[in-house]
Amino acid sequence: MKALICKNGKIETVEKTVPVIEKNTDAIIKVTLSSICTSDLHIIHGFVPLAKDGVVLGHEFAGEVVETGDGVKDFKKGDRVSVNCETFCGVCGFCKKGFVNNCINGGWELGCKIDGCQAEYVRVPYADNGLTKLPDNVSYENALFVGDILSSGYWGAELCEITKGDTIAVIGAGPVGLCAMQCAKILGAGKVIAVDIDKNRLELAQKLGFADFISEPENCEESIKEITKYGADAVIEAAGGENTFELAYKIARPNAVVALVAMYEKNQILPLPEMYGKNLIFKTGGVDAVHCKELVKLIAEGKITTDFLITHRFSFDNIKDAYKLFEEKSENCLKVAVEY
Ligand SMILES: [Zn+2]
Ligand SMILES: [Zn+2]
Repeated sequence: MKALICKNGKIETVEKTVPVIEKNTDAIIKVTLSSICTSDLHIIHGFVPLAKDGVVLGHEFAGEVVETGDGVKDFKKGDRVSVNCETFCGVCGFCKKGFVNNCINGGWELGCKIDGCQAEYVRVPYADNGLTKLPDNVSYENALFVGDILSSGYWGAELCEITKGDTIAVIGAGPVGLCAMQCAKILGAGKVIAVDIDKNRLELAQKLGFADFISEPENCEESIKEITKYGADAVIEAAGGENTFELAYKIARPNAVVALVAMYEKNQILPLPEMYGKNLIFKTGGVDAVHCKELVKLIAEGKITTDFLITHRFSFDNIKDAYKLFEEKSENCLKVAVEY
């Protein structure tokens, strides 16, 4: 089968053997649609020490079940599924609390420690936990982002502990930020303020009805104070830019949650003496993608959509061009869909 690997910081397409069931809880999925995530770029750039050299990249995809191990109870050959970016056992102490990102038997494995989805077939461990069945009215396209960026956006909104009517600022109107805006509304936010350096993305956030107000970072502190006197009730930092961490705690009101869902490439400074008394709550980290079923249901009911994210399509044979376009963010690219 055809696959895209990352070796010594470079991507290349190679021929590989089709994966087989290794444990009875595995399933083999025929990939119908996959995407490229910024985390894939982080691996290529060497910022993910856990990543195995030569691994097949990719962890954001949908496809069809072609084979299941004896221990897989909820899925069978022919099922249409979206796949969770995280691998988790479901029974360890962390999994039982819903902290699946820290599963002692899993975590971010696909496309990092084990072969991922930028290939014709992929082996998914703990398939009963990692797969979500798609109802007939949800297409592969509709469900492409469920297991990763939509989950990340939902998680960011969930971290904010939103109470009805809250004003939520979202820094970064990229794919995760746009998902977070929608999810914040679903969880009860009254107003959403989108912050980005990219005017096109801000306009899109407003046009789609996800953001009630938009602001560029420079005048963000003032404009937020005009909208809400004391600062945002919670801030979702989904940009991971040079100064976006600083901006996040500055635009938060005292006692707000600052949810950091961005993946930084550099250390960030937390000036505790300056912010003493502001009593902020910082929440950090990588998504616990445990709401895939609810997210698919919300898509099926038409309450949430990620269709607008697919701005470009490529066949697998041109996947290197897809990486180039995605990395350069040229042609207002939000996300690419790679077809197999
Ligand atoms: Zn990802
Ligand atoms: Zn676990």
